[in-house]
Amino acid sequence: PYQGMSKDRLLDIRKHNCNPMTFKVTYYKKPVFINQGYMQWLWDVDGRRYLDLFAGVVTVSVGHCNPKVTEAAEKQLRRLWHTTAIYVYPQMQEYAEKLASLFPDPLKVVYFTNSGSEANDLAVLMARLHTGNFDVITLRGSYHGGSPQATGLTSNADYKYPIPSSMGCHNTMCPDVFRGLWGGSHCRDSPVQTIRECSCSPGTNTHTYTQSFMRAYHRRLSFLYKGHCQANDMYIKELKEMFATTVPNRIAAFFAEPIQGVGGAVQFPKNYLKDTYRLVREKGGICIADEVQTGFGRTGSHFWGFQGHNVLPDMVTMAKGIANGFPMGAVVTTAEIARSFGKGVHFNTFGGNPLACAVASSVLDTIKEDRVQENSAEVGTYLLTELAKLRDKYEIIGDVRGKGLQIGVEMVKDKASRDPLPPEAIAEIFEDTKDMGVLIGKGGLYGQTFRIKPPMCITKDDADFFLAVFNQAVQNYMERR
Ligand code: PMP
Repeated sequence: PYQGMSKDRLLDIRKHNCNPMTFKVTYYKKPVFINQGYMQWLWDVDGRRYLDLFAGVVTVSVGHCNPKVTEAAEKQLRRLWHTTAIYVYPQMQEYAEKLASLFPDPLKVVYFTNSGSEANDLAVLMARLHTGNFDVITLRGSYHGGSPQATGLTSNADYKYPIPSSMGCHNTMCPDVFRGLWGGSHCRDSPVQTIRECSCSPGTNTHTYTQSFMRAYHRRLSFLYKGHCQANDMYIKELKEMFATTVPNRIAAFFAEPIQGVGGAVQFPKNYLKDTYRLVREKGGICIADEVQTGFGRTGSHFWGFQGHNVLPDMVTMAKGIANGFPMGAVVTTAEIARSFGKGVHFNTFGGNPLACAVASSVLDTIKEDRVQENSAEVGTYLLTELAKLRDKYEIIGDVRGKGLQIGVEMVKDKASRDPLPPEAIAEIFEDTKDMGVLIGKGGLYGQTFRIKPPMCITKDDADFFLAVFNQAVQNYMERR
């Protein structure tokens, strides 16, 4: 049992001695005080158990205090914890080889960092040195980190400051098939089909036009253009326009997550990344996949999210799930890009330290031994299918999407307008879900999307428990309003 300070005292210290802004992200009206964790479960200081479906923002990949990972950490703690530089530590080489083996050629060179922001900073630097170009493009609504450099990549006002953040970063339109201008829902890479009317045809996404003739028009065009996503063409056209107006004729890099995380599990039309990668390379840029949230089997069908898009990036950045919550990040790239970067000395005191590598190595073993990627596919698809039934039941559940255990449930005022459900309403459902014993996350530009991204060890029973709780929370809200 917890025998530490009182909750009031903890909150007081939090308010006065810690970053006061973190209050904004302690999330709940009545904050949760977490004392212990085991696999998919967390316990608060009063001994109350929660099913954790947010995993510390998609960080705990194989379960809290997973016994195998904990044992590996303990073993290494007794042997050596040290920095990375100067000597050769076997753990780093062993892990680098293991990690590199999970990538197709030519992605074989690993750089270690301590976080996702650091990994993305390093990726930008390498891209610029390799290409000799400066400008970097990301998608609107993305989150790529909070360092001064990564803040420029990030495209969400809540994380921005009124200072020049990372010159040369530009954000293009996010091809969001639900909220975006041109839709494209039929083409997204998902086991659950989510919107009935067509949004693949050219023209504006149907929710911006309520007139029924517009819907009919879209349906007719979708028939004519069967098999070809016209919405994707529009998003690509927008990107080309950005090339023509916002950046010089050559660029350094394009950054995107395979499924936007903080953005609210946003998925793109099927060929968007493929088409974009081609255009970026024509402009002399390299393509970077931010797999901080989508990597390590989370999307179920593939180990890396980019594989679901049928693309091969020049560089992949990762963190969070890489070491099940132990601070670590990495950049994986090609020998050619690594050579361009080798002209100066790159030094990171802790990146790839023996303890982090021992932990990360046992995480990779556990992902394989416990078949968590397969579990992500299985339980994730089940969750998506069942959540889609709730979407059909409730007017305020606008969209259910994602892949594996990277799931978003977008809440709306009503299905016709698709206006985001206001923050007070989101907060009510969120709090109620927590009070019934389930922790989920929030995301999207308006905080309108619930995020379900649990440790990948959750079971179908856990999924059923969540579904019952979430159904109840939505129903409670509908009855109250
Ligand atoms: N990229 C993505 C996709 C992320 O979600 C995050 C963190 N939310 C980061 C980068 C930054 O990682 P870190 O907080 O470890 O710096």
